[in-house]
Amino acid sequence: MSYEVSVDTVGHYLDVSLLYEASETLREPILLKMPVWAPGYYLIIDYPKNLTDFQAMNVDGTFLLWEKVEKNGWKIYPSSSSFVVKYRVFADARSVAECRVNEKIAFVPTNGVLMYEEGQKEHGVDVTFILPNDWKHISTGMKEVRIAGKAATYHANDFDELYDSPVLMGNQYVEKFEFQGKQYELALECPEGLEESTFREDIRKIMGAATDMMKDIPYEKYCFILLGAGGGGLEHRNSMACYTSGSFKFESEHSYRSFMNFIAHEYFHLYNVKDIRPIELGPFDYDREVFTPMLWVAEGFTVYYEGILMRRAGLSSPDDFLTFISDYIKTIETQEGHKRMSLRQSSYDIWLNFFNFGKNGKDVRISYYDKGPILGLLMDIEIRRMTNNKQSLDDVMRLLYNRYYKELNRGYTEEEFWDACKEVAGRPLELMRRYVDTTEEIDYATCLKYAGLSLNRENWQIVRLEEVTPLQESIRKSILNE
Ligand SMILES: [Zn+2]
Repeated sequence: MSYEVSVDTVGHYLDVSLLYEASETLREPILLKMPVWAPGYYLIIDYPKNLTDFQAMNVDGTFLLWEKVEKNGWKIYPSSSSFVVKYRVFADARSVAECRVNEKIAFVPTNGVLMYEEGQKEHGVDVTFILPNDWKHISTGMKEVRIAGKAATYHANDFDELYDSPVLMGNQYVEKFEFQGKQYELALECPEGLEESTFREDIRKIMGAATDMMKDIPYEKYCFILLGAGGGGLEHRNSMACYTSGSFKFESEHSYRSFMNFIAHEYFHLYNVKDIRPIELGPFDYDREVFTPMLWVAEGFTVYYEGILMRRAGLSSPDDFLTFISDYIKTIETQEGHKRMSLRQSSYDIWLNFFNFGKNGKDVRISYYDKGPILGLLMDIEIRRMTNNKQSLDDVMRLLYNRYYKELNRGYTEEEFWDACKEVAGRPLELMRRYVDTTEEIDYATCLKYAGLSLNRENWQIVRLEEVTPLQESIRKSILNE
């Protein structure tokens, strides 16, 4: 299968042409499928709703029979060894998981545009993007195969890789650089204010903190796709796609720090969720919801590490970090929902609540984005306490990365996650598991004390204890990077 994608900037469409070639005459019908969701975006989007003008034909242009057999399935009846399929995709959405085409830019998350053959997702695929005459750049983490005039061809090793590789086409600001022997591309839809910021230096610091911790960089090329004004970000193994405020001028140090936190979050996801992943999350079933009880690790720990990496990168202070976690404690402890829904359950049910927290949401449920980072801190402290501050949550992340991603090339199960914690800590984290699996109230006084910290329940701020043991002090210094 090879694809060609061109852009209708006026009508807001992507024009797609698929060439399917086999080594011998095709005797059975071929079922083509389009995903209905995008990994990382736990919502059924039903991409085929944007599809129109579907046609199947022989290479000589004579039409072939086809029929729609599922909401996202097209059955083709070929008569030779090859055929062509053409269709159009309406692209007028403003989300990190959906396509947007206008006179200046085309943002193309490939899930909503390209089809796979049922049962053949592990095949490699070439995609050629054709730029309109006055457009200059194509930015993506995918491997470039060739460039010919306005057409550039990229290769993905399989369809999971293809669907994990969004593309930005247009006259975006592009800057390429090398860091730690890897290739990077900054692709900014709205670069206004960039010169004034220290953005480029600071993302190097964040990447350095993450790669120092994980001790491995699992890509050759990484692309930062930073879009105009909008909301949300989506992580990928070879890139991130994030909406911004529409400018790189920041009103305050705080707003700049929040933005860099966001970048650190999406970047760290390339480890935590893309490589270190719950077993349900890849290889993917693109036909339906994929439920997992572990998003509190995949998302919640990524929030925790966003704070940790900012601190290690020197982009925030120890007090900034304490306030960062305190804000999540306040959110959780002041919502009745924490008595009704466990952290584990919030993961499983995300498909019901992704953009639909509901009018009664705060009373009946919680978000793993809020409680997950609290458990990140408490588990980090607990592992350090149990090991005399010789091991930490970092060791759990490295163990999961090396064993399940590098050695076994698969995700971890829920029990394997807890076993990894036990292996690092030397004993099972029983209390922590109850805080995850049940709605048991968290004993902050006891848990935080091990790190020489306590919680002021008047304002939900974490504060430092005056009198601490040497171990408590050393754990506090390690976490706060002092
Ligand atoms: Zn995330």
